[in-house]
Amino acid sequence: MFRPATAIAPDVTETVTKSIRDHRKYLTSGSRYISAHHTAEETVGRFSAVADAVVEAELRITFSKRYGRGANWDREEHTVQFAAAAQCTGHGCTAPRHEVPATGVFLLDADADETAPAALPLVAEARAWAQKHAETCRALPYDGR
Ligand SMILES: [Zn+2]
Repeated sequence: MFRPATAIAPDVTETVTKSIRDHRKYLTSGSRYISAHHTAEETVGRFSAVADAVVEAELRITFSKRYGRGANWDREEHTVQFAAAAQCTGHGCTAPRHEVPATGVFLLDADADETAPAALPLVAEARAWAQKHAETCRALPYDGR
């Protein structure tokens, strides 16, 4: 029997645009504690497996910096990249992890509303794996010991 463990269903587009805007804000704040290289991890799905182990889908938003392309070769530009993963926390699970590799690189300065949808297919794949895994995995919940 499959059932969602909790109603975690954040709006991915909103999560991503907020993350991009926050990172821009940090960069312009000039705080020396903020790095141009930073990965934000967002839980985008959580499922309960057959024996109650928790399977989570997560989106990783990686902020970075590189030299520009073409005529901008001498200018640094900030970039955003998405990857996703699904992880089973079950004790003794034999295949607990599924990675959805990063795809394209986007510019931090680009319109966040246009960049964000690129994360959707990755999230969909991670969620689908997590759900399918939850339907069959018999690992026991991890009890912290
Ligand atoms: Zn498992």
